[in-house]
Amino acid sequence: MSQRNGTTNAGWNLENSYAGLSTPFFTKLELNPVSEAKLIFLNRSLATSLGLNVEELESEDGVDVLAGNQVPEGSVPIAQAYAGHQFGNFTMLGDGRALLIGEQVTPDGKRFDLQLKGSGRTPYSRGGDGRAALGPMLREYIISEAMYALDIPTNRSLAVVTTGEPVIRETNQPGAVLTRVASSHIRVGTFEYASQLGTVEDLQVLADYTLQRHYPDFDGAENRYHFLLQEVIKRQAELVAKWNLVGFIHGVMNTDNMAISGESIDFGPCAFMNTYDPSTVFSSIDVQGRYAYGNQPYIAGWNLARFAETLLPLLHDNQEEAVKLAQEEISGFSKLYLNHWLVGMRGKLGIFNEQEDDKSLIEDLLTIMQKYRADYTNTFIALTFDKAKGTELFESDEFAKWNERWQTRLNKQQLSNAAAHELMRNSNPAVIPRNHRVEDALEAVVERGDYSVMGQLLDILSKPYAHTSAQADFAEPPADLDENYQTFCGT
Ligand code: AMP
Ligand code: MG
Repeated sequence: MSQRNGTTNAGWNLENSYAGLSTPFFTKLELNPVSEAKLIFLNRSLATSLGLNVEELESEDGVDVLAGNQVPEGSVPIAQAYAGHQFGNFTMLGDGRALLIGEQVTPDGKRFDLQLKGSGRTPYSRGGDGRAALGPMLREYIISEAMYALDIPTNRSLAVVTTGEPVIRETNQPGAVLTRVASSHIRVGTFEYASQLGTVEDLQVLADYTLQRHYPDFDGAENRYHFLLQEVIKRQAELVAKWNLVGFIHGVMNTDNMAISGESIDFGPCAFMNTYDPSTVFSSIDVQGRYAYGNQPYIAGWNLARFAETLLPLLHDNQEEAVKLAQEEISGFSKLYLNHWLVGMRGKLGIFNEQEDDKSLIEDLLTIMQKYRADYTNTFIALTFDKAKGTELFESDEFAKWNERWQTRLNKQQLSNAAAHELMRNSNPAVIPRNHRVEDALEAVVERGDYSVMGQLLDILSKPYAHTSAQADFAEPPADLDENYQTFCGT
């Protein structure tokens, strides 16, 4: 294995706490070098915040690290084992095309996994080639950075390099490696793996590690594993509420794609909704609509029940008591979700305080949005900027009646209309990564080697609450409203 970078000033400050666990939850890896590594996108501000030196990352040694041709000094490269319920069915999985370089400890003491996605075969590759195509890696880069800018907990993207090697999909595609930055890659599926394949001691090691890494306040808890369950449920409730508030559809909410940290992870077939419709699905493989927009909170609850099951041996010595504790927490999820969603929706409508009939006010707006096939994001933008006119929705009697109720509701609060509009500006994104814009950006890079379209899109998406005139163009839904748009996974 090649280790050279420690001699430079690249800023690597790697630890390998996960690789140090005495559990069977990972495999140490050899590198799978690529023939011609070329850096095509580097997230400079993220690099700097990680304590990494941009010029060094751009140098030959730096690019070699980002391509998996060498690892920095201090790295113990591993692939993580995990299992998962995929569309409801339990399967053994693991990092089949990813390599964890290690954990970068930042100048302000934070710890982030650095993972190369598309870095070659691992013991968990099953039939796969371990590689990734350029388009999907760019897609993950755009979406993850857009999510971050939308203030949604998420993995981030540090860089994309091309490998100079083709990957064979339906057609030959340029190969690429994405460097992903995450609070950790521990998934619900990691716990499922531990509970199926490990001993109770192994499970406990994983749970204790997770607590220390993500929930350091556990020290005061009477029952630390109960605390872990509660906290994971809380973070997922908030996360999925935030997804739904911006119209984000993850597309493949298998338990292996749900991170225990509460970050969004694995942006395969994800996409943003245009027209408001809870049954919206873009993923080509989701024939039943299991992961449709409106199902996301239910699926999150289902996944968390699988998580709770893995913790049963740790929750209580008496398994009946353990089941009772788990059930209590799981049944509280929908209320937690609803509370987060209501807080967010009130913000989108400029409402500061709480009233009981807010829920029906919000739901009634959504109902008429659905009836008139209104664009989800742009309806809220029109309300924010007093431009609610000229569309079928805004000219309807239903909307006129709803608008009266909304105005009455706004007048019931102490704060001024100006304050309400300020709240709306900060709660309603001017832009989301519209699917056709994302596709244009990918096509420009992959087909023409033109990086400017993606560069401009990243720039526009980086400040969704700025409401600049340059964003207006990017706010338009596609002419066909993505009627036939499909996304693909594992590509
Ligand atoms: P995903 O759909 O990206 O969440 O991946 C599901 C599972 O398939 C994970 O275990 C991946 O590591 C694995 N996988 C996806 N693509 C490949 C590939 N090209 N080679 C090997 N494993 C893969
Ligand atoms: Mg995955």
